[in-house]
Amino acid sequence: MDTAVHRIGVFTSGGDAPGMNAAIRAVVRTSLHMGIECIGIRRGYHGLINGDFTRLDFESVSDISRRGGTILYSARSLEFKEEAGRNKALATCKLLGLDALVGIGGDGTFRGLLTLADSGISVIGIPGTIDNDIACSSYTVGYDTACNTALESIDRLRDTMKSHERCSVVEVMGHRAGHLAVAVGISCGATVVLVPEQPVDFQRDVITPIRQARLGGRTHFMVIVAEGVPGGGYGVAQQIKEYTALDTRVTVLGHVQRGGSPTARDRMVATNMGYHAVRLLAEGKTCRVVAMEGDNIIDYDITEALGMKKEIDEYSLSMLRDLTGVHG
Ligand code: ATP
Repeated sequence: MDTAVHRIGVFTSGGDAPGMNAAIRAVVRTSLHMGIECIGIRRGYHGLINGDFTRLDFESVSDISRRGGTILYSARSLEFKEEAGRNKALATCKLLGLDALVGIGGDGTFRGLLTLADSGISVIGIPGTIDNDIACSSYTVGYDTACNTALESIDRLRDTMKSHERCSVVEVMGHRAGHLAVAVGISCGATVVLVPEQPVDFQRDVITPIRQARLGGRTHFMVIVAEGVPGGGYGVAQQIKEYTALDTRVTVLGHVQRGGSPTARDRMVATNMGYHAVRLLAEGKTCRVVAMEGDNIIDYDITEALGMKKEIDEYSLSMLRDLTGVHG
């Protein structure tokens, strides 16, 4: 097959996300199908700087789609943000004869790819992050698995908080983005969801819904807090105790949300995105981010994608409030 590139380097970078392995597999198998060689770079940009690589053949990616984490490991590299680090990374690309890179990660990973594109290497980004915070894409690899993992824990918590008539404050991941918190909150029937994108009026957003639910006969309360909300789960719980004297317990779900076998949705999306990424490179395209729009896989110019903003879904938040009986 006549393709615009001949050797692709693939790596995972930033926070890991379930489904990254399915994306790696798709990149490798699609490349090989097209007669393109594929090199796995371990530990993201750190590995590119240090020449940490492995050749990926057909069998090396067998049976990895169902596994959480990333077989290529992931890392954040401060050194790559400096020119000297980037020059070392470029030297590795030259030494290995890489004419293209596929980076699976978040916005930071895509920014990094852009800096290398200036040197004539074709680059494609695949959105892999449990936060679903990539503006150009309605979906990011890992989000569905993380939602389901969080829900499973919350369902268990609800059993015990109901028995003891408690208020449960659950902190979910999301420093700057509350998409995970909103999806989890709707799915578990939370009384309150707090996200970093919106300032919290404690009386209006927390105490009033809890009080109304109590007046309606509810004796247990689920409060979902994204970790980026000021004070986090512990701060919110402290205030709930002060205002209501409810027996309030905090659970920080933490990194457990990043692990586990990816759901069918994450494996499917990751596979489609990996396939699309290599086809773009084969056609001679560069500086693209693979994205989802509805059920379709599309792609955007990286610079354009990085300039976009993803707002929190107001409709979902207002639906959540309507369903918990909070009006006005
Ligand atoms: P996550 O959504 O999990 O945070 P991410 O890809 O946004 O994923 P970052 O830590 O922001 O995670 O970025 C990953 C790596 O990309 C960084 O460690 C750094 O090496 C590189 N990177 C980030 N921003 C830049 C930049 N402006 N210029 C060059 N490289 C960058």
